[in-house]
Amino acid sequence: MSVATESNEKILDVKNLKMYFPVTRGVLRRKVAEIKAVDDVSLSLRPGETLGLVGESGCGKTTVGRCILRLYEPTAGEIVFEGEDITRLNARTLRAWRRKMSLVFQDPYSSLDPRMNSGDIVGEPLLIHGLVSKGAAYRKEVEKLFGMAGLDPRMMDRFPHEYSGGQRQRLSIARSLAGDPSLIICDEPISALDVSMQAQILNLLHELRDKKPRLSYIFISHDLPAVQYISHRVAVMYLGRIMEIADSTELYSHTLHPYSIALLSAIPIPDPDFEAERKRIVLEGDVPTPLNPPKGCSFHPRCWRAQARCGEETPELKEVSPSHRVACHFV
Ligand code: SF4
Repeated sequence: MSVATESNEKILDVKNLKMYFPVTRGVLRRKVAEIKAVDDVSLSLRPGETLGLVGESGCGKTTVGRCILRLYEPTAGEIVFEGEDITRLNARTLRAWRRKMSLVFQDPYSSLDPRMNSGDIVGEPLLIHGLVSKGAAYRKEVEKLFGMAGLDPRMMDRFPHEYSGGQRQRLSIARSLAGDPSLIICDEPISALDVSMQAQILNLLHELRDKKPRLSYIFISHDLPAVQYISHRVAVMYLGRIMEIADSTELYSHTLHPYSIALLSAIPIPDPDFEAERKRIVLEGDVPTPLNPPKGCSFHPRCWRAQARCGEETPELKEVSPSHRVACHFV
């Protein structure tokens, strides 16, 4: 049994997070509106747990990840990481905390500095955080990180362009491990890769979790089968809010929110008979702009179950069982 399923300890507790980006106009950059990219999101994470964040593009999942890493300054809310509210830390103290959290980007082609050799790319955080000085110990640490990510340390002197896409993502993962973090935020880590590479990267993340039982991930993706494979719990986001959050098995087998039902109904099933029988829910229209989100339930303009109340009242994310919460008036 993993730490994630045994413990009630929280490594991360995000409370009522809001991230509104100002829209400005004119020479004086007067604020004329706000984009509500994240609007009152609360979630938590246990040591060793993987939380999947899913939803269509623009739903705010990447912004949540970037707020947790303090790459964005949240508009409101608390981000308690290992017992400390990191929204209140100054830049100097935050730097020390940064070692404990890292990010794996979506695009391994553009996220690695092409002028640095791969050993320096992976080892740079060790130097930034003063964990080791250049020399034999540094090289040994970098070799260890290469090994952990399934890369041959003899490739340390090569440059990113000499690697395949999957190997580059392994480099990103090796770099993300450099400060021995307790949380890695994986932002669409497989979407730029072909299918066989995707499976390899997912397996690597799995193996690392087995080797480091207290390592937690937030896995941001629109790829629902991948999220199901890697995550202990899953949160479905829509227009900056969590619509449903549950244990992974529960969410995929007992889906309750109309939006989650529609998303899951679009996953192809490799069984032609079952596929022919099953009902697919096609959502009409696009996700509305977070600049002017619909009143009431933000999903109501696209929801096939919507009733008059949905256009007036915003549904609370309410508990339907101890591990399952849903934001819908009719669940
Ligand atoms: Fe649909 Fe209404 Fe439920 Fe929103 S509250 S998901 S619009 S039924």
